[in-house]
Amino acid sequence: MRGEGMRTAYFGFCPCCEKETNQVHVVDETTTFNIGGVDVTVPDEYYQCLACGDNYWTGACKDALELAYAEYEKITGKKWKGIYHDK
Ligand SMILES: [Zn+2]
Repeated sequence: MRGEGMRTAYFGFCPCCEKETNQVHVVDETTTFNIGGVDVTVPDEYYQCLACGDNYWTGACKDALELAYAEYEKITGKKWKGIYHDK
């Protein structure tokens, strides 16, 4: 599930096409992960190339999944230990 974020159009290098293309930089879009049965919504940031349609992340982007694990810990008071936890 994704919420609408802020999109900025620009012209830049796409690592998928390996050339300069029209792209959008998306920030503050929300992504919901289901972690161990708990829905965790976190802000996401990524780039999308309009030529090939691929999304990609750079080192400057936050890792949404890592944020989701931290948020899970806040919600449940438990540390996420992997997919087989509590089973
Ligand atoms: Zn591309």
